[in-house]
Amino acid sequence: MLAPIRTLLTDVFNLFYPKVCLTCDNTLHQHEEVICLQCERGLPLTGHYTDADNELAKRLWGRVELQGAMGLYDFHKGAQVQQLLHSLKYRKRQDAGIYVGQQLGVQLQQANCIIKNIDVIVPVPLHHKKEKQRGYNQCMPIAEAISLATDWPVAKDALMRTVKNTSQTGMNRFERFENVKDIFAVKDAAQLQGKHVLLVDDVVTTGATSESCIRTILSVPDTKVSFVAVGYAKG
Ligand SMILES: [Zn+2]
Repeated sequence: MLAPIRTLLTDVFNLFYPKVCLTCDNTLHQHEEVICLQCERGLPLTGHYTDADNELAKRLWGRVELQGAMGLYDFHKGAQVQQLLHSLKYRKRQDAGIYVGQQLGVQLQQANCIIKNIDVIVPVPLHHKKEKQRGYNQCMPIAEAISLATDWPVAKDALMRTVKNTSQTGMNRFERFENVKDIFAVKDAAQLQGKHVLLVDDVVTTGATSESCIRTILSVPDTKVSFVAVGYAKG
């Protein structure tokens, strides 16, 4: 008897406070959570997950040793991808992070996925002041959703960001790398040592920040790193 009442109450609640799609503002149907089915179909998937020589992996070739790298969406083609990630970062919509993490989780579970045999997931850390200001690290809900799908644990405090980063706008590739070279530090090596780490980021542009973070992980003995980003921005 309770279930129909609960459904009825949900329906009445949704009548006054309808859940809307994060990217088109249309009212969501009951089975839709963050974005509507139509918007979901329009998201520009990169297809990186089955291609070891994908563009994101190539961008990091020769700069840092990686087992595999992939991006979920083409960031430039997708105004919707920008909206999703903007909501996650600036509008306290952690459910947007969970949504994209679930999509990554689906790909990471495929038998032909280029990334496999992960021991631990590490979200790219935010500076603690910025995290306090925002209320959370936006990479954490993404990492948690991947963890739920794959059963790989999340190492929450293995790394830290020591420098509250300045803007990279207007810098060339070398300047960008210099700018972020030492912004991360290992906080708890025991969580990483001897492990294959999956580093999780929201958006990759030049890859300078990712490179710096990967180098920091690789400074711990016997580590290997694979890398995923939700948005891959073509250079
Ligand atoms: Zn929509």
